[in-house]
Amino acid sequence: MTKKIKTKLYILAAAGCFLMFCQSIFAQGTSKSALRTVIIDAGHGGRDPGARGLISTEAEVALDIALKLGKELEREYPEIKFVYTRTDHNLPRGESDPNKANRVRAEMANEAKGDLFISIHLNATGQRAGGWYAKRITGYKNKIVYTGTGKRRKKKYVKQPIYESYYVKNTRVGTETYIWAADRSGSKSEYVPEEEGGEEEPVDDPHNVLDLTTPEAKIRAQLYTKYFFRNSALLAQMVEEEFGNNGRKSYGVKQRNNKGIWVLQATGMPSILIETGFISNKEEEEYLNSEKGQQEVVENILNAFRRYKQELEAPRSTSR
Ligand SMILES: [Zn+2]
Repeated sequence: MTKKIKTKLYILAAAGCFLMFCQSIFAQGTSKSALRTVIIDAGHGGRDPGARGLISTEAEVALDIALKLGKELEREYPEIKFVYTRTDHNLPRGESDPNKANRVRAEMANEAKGDLFISIHLNATGQRAGGWYAKRITGYKNKIVYTGTGKRRKKKYVKQPIYESYYVKNTRVGTETYIWAADRSGSKSEYVPEEEGGEEEPVDDPHNVLDLTTPEAKIRAQLYTKYFFRNSALLAQMVEEEFGNNGRKSYGVKQRNNKGIWVLQATGMPSILIETGFISNKEEEEYLNSEKGQQEVVENILNAFRRYKQELEAPRSTSR
């Protein structure tokens, strides 16, 4: 080979390599990266402790779980940007009004142009945490009473109940994941009263009602029904499956159109709210406070996240 041909070959080879390099860059750039930005939201915080247990508040435990989940996700997916609505005990962006804070959560998610919103909460039955003492009648005793005075004085027996104090345990345990009810308009008139064990935020605060009269909100609602709803339901289902596989009691995927879910309505992306367990049950609260319990919950959500991402990015998938 002459020196000229050799040089030409080198140039050709270099060009080939460059082309391949470009192709790989291009392929990366256009590969279906379904999740670029994910919002992780620890519920409550600051002046809003959420539900109270015997040893902790919902705000504290939700933050622990949210931060641990974020850490695991960041390690596994360095290419995804994770945005936290709060990383300390304060409400998002130092907000002091819990209702405004919910609006801030949605704003943060929308500003970050999130592809997914995951909110972490704990459930409560609305009854006393742990349990409470109640009274029951175990039998009757005869008590002597006297009626009348003087000669008319009479001795009488009256039956009196014998009470016993007993402890009623707050037994409800389990998980449930909420998505926004897409079939409802979100108007205040269609407000559905929460079932037992629901959220404890104020009910009729105007900040918590989504205004669907603006064009922007209408578009968001339409998008939600078509794409966001389907994907929210998909991930929610996977989260609950993972909890169930881990031996937790799962109440499955729920839809609720009230204030506790407002943040889901207001976010322009698939959104789920995970009730990771009942803080009102002594054992479940201890579990959710424990290292093992938090790690398990995080692993369950992480498994669901992996499956969800895979499903979105599968070539034959139509879920995008
Ligand atoms: Zn909550």
